[in-house]
Amino acid sequence: MSPATLKRVTLFASELAGTLRRASVVDLLLRHVRDALAPGELAVALLTRDADAVDFAHTWPRPGADRRPLVDLALRRGALHVPDIAALLRELDQPAPPDLTGSWVIAPLTAKGRVTGVVAAGAPAGQLGPERLPLVEALAATASIALESARLVDLHDDGRRSWQEVVDAISPALCIVDRAGRIRRANRAFAELVTAPPASLIGRPWHAFMPPEWAGELRTALQQQSVGREVELRTGERSYAVTAVPIRGDAEGTTVLLFDDHTDRRRLQDQLIQSEKMSAIGQLIAGIAHDLNNPLASVVGFADFLCEVPSVPAPLREPLAVIREEAERASKIVKSLLGFARKQEHRRRSTPLAPLLESTLGLLRNQFMATRIDVTLDLEPDLPPLDVDPVQIQQVFVNLLNNAAQAIGASGRPGHVTIRARRFLDGIAVDVADDGPGMSEALAAQAFEPFFTTKGEGEGTGLGLSISQGIVREHGGRITLSSEEGRGSTFTVQLPLAPHAPPEASVRIGGEPSRRLRVLVVDDEPHILHYMRATLDAWGHEVATVEDGDEALERAAAEPFDLIISDLRMPRLGGREFHAALERRDPAAASKVVFSTGDTVRGDTLAFLETLDRPFLHKPFSLAELRELLVRVAREGDPRRRDSGQQLAEV
Ligand code: ADP
Repeated sequence: MSPATLKRVTLFASELAGTLRRASVVDLLLRHVRDALAPGELAVALLTRDADAVDFAHTWPRPGADRRPLVDLALRRGALHVPDIAALLRELDQPAPPDLTGSWVIAPLTAKGRVTGVVAAGAPAGQLGPERLPLVEALAATASIALESARLVDLHDDGRRSWQEVVDAISPALCIVDRAGRIRRANRAFAELVTAPPASLIGRPWHAFMPPEWAGELRTALQQQSVGREVELRTGERSYAVTAVPIRGDAEGTTVLLFDDHTDRRRLQDQLIQSEKMSAIGQLIAGIAHDLNNPLASVVGFADFLCEVPSVPAPLREPLAVIREEAERASKIVKSLLGFARKQEHRRRSTPLAPLLESTLGLLRNQFMATRIDVTLDLEPDLPPLDVDPVQIQQVFVNLLNNAAQAIGASGRPGHVTIRARRFLDGIAVDVADDGPGMSEALAAQAFEPFFTTKGEGEGTGLGLSISQGIVREHGGRITLSSEEGRGSTFTVQLPLAPHAPPEASVRIGGEPSRRLRVLVVDDEPHILHYMRATLDAWGHEVATVEDGDEALERAAAEPFDLIISDLRMPRLGGREFHAALERRDPAAASKVVFSTGDTVRGDTLAFLETLDRPFLHKPFSLAELRELLVRVAREGDPRRRDSGQQLAEV
């Protein structure tokens, strides 16, 4: 190598030092070739990794000129001097661009023995001799080393960028802590968690960014480094599940800390636990209240009975009246406990339905207009007020109407929603019917399950129907669903009337029964049987008593009764089963059955009593209520309603 060449290459190498970008290396290379050779033309091409295409090309002074034949020559022959390029290409039978002429020196760029590109200088024929080739070759070799370094730096940067993109896309906050306790890397969620700019985190100790109350737990987690062990940490209202995952291998001692924000999950869990607890308490109270109702029924009944007996000595009358009053006070307490079991909160009041539905529709008017939905409100005249918490019941109708609107909206067509309210058994039924897409049988079976939803993120939580069902059940009512795919859905909400709703005149029957009745009383409580026998005897009726459903079935099938008063919950054959068996054997006898129960808090009990369409006695019941039942049976032949229905006892 001539001293001039050596000097040039040394200068080039020193200028390249610290140049890590491909474009800068190419710029420097071209400058040195131009300075040293003063050519008329220059071309540089860099190839793709498998050398089958040009990845980068630069031509001077004609940008974009086709210099592919120079690349092919370098690939095939390595470094070479070409006195007449056009003649050589003709000789090789290769197509040549018409502007590619003159003499050229061509040197390949290489990495690990493979050609990765080419640098070439051209001049009019005869102006560029073979003596210039070694300099171009030496410059190309030096540039090759710098280009390979630049490629490795690019690769590293790409890896780093895609790593950062991936970790930034992860929703848990993540930071990598080295053996010395310094943060090596962190994602965007971590920077947001500690409210610090991402760049300010790197190299700083982790504990500088953590709430002081977390330090102890985190230090232990970092020291123990047990894979997958989750620590729950709270700060303010938020709670995080923190996991420390050790990195094995070269980076031994380095740990990934993951912070998963599960505040919302925890809140939901707490709510569920709370509502589970409340419902367990409710069931407990309902059970206790029911068990108290039976003894109270005997006390009220006997006291009532003795008050009516003329032969009771005068000094006993006052204590008897006290027993009666106190027993009634106790039964009121039980009733309010049952009330608590049903609704958990004392916010129920007598609520007229029409304004409640009208204000609910007012809330949703815009939504209905936007989704082109017509609404019909069809209320039976003179509906009595409901006994409900209006806020909760409004919530139920908002959920149902919202679902109807969303279902119709999803179909993309205009639609119709009908709200129809009517008297139904002991309360009021409200139908919310839509002509949307309806539901398949499988979907309808799951619709009331908590968290079941077919709607997208942010549109449905899957809780609307299950919460609505819970609210209505707490009110002693229920929601039923009838739906047909393609035809629409109807949800029916059944709700109880206000306790002081004026009873219908037709069921207020006064006076004494006009004839002697044959009555069968079925109850597993001997005291209740005793006082019922004493009372009914005293009123001149013929009474038979049995202690369970099996015996009742034998008696009722064997001899005719005008009335059968049966308890619902009994050991062995219960009231429901007794009634079902009697209906199979002798439907006429089954129609004489009236149930007496202290258990109207359970939805399934209420539902069963409603399907019978006949009155029931709510324990403890007064003699007046019993007398009313007997008068009805004496007058009408059986206890079934001839009117829209009314329960004999006040619930
Ligand atoms: P969400 O509305 O949040 O999804 P819901 O418990 O209110 O939760 O409803 C559960 C699912 O029942 C809904 O996702 C939907 O698939 C179905 N659904 C409820 N109401 C209707 C309706 N009127 N028509 C069709 N499907 C309905």
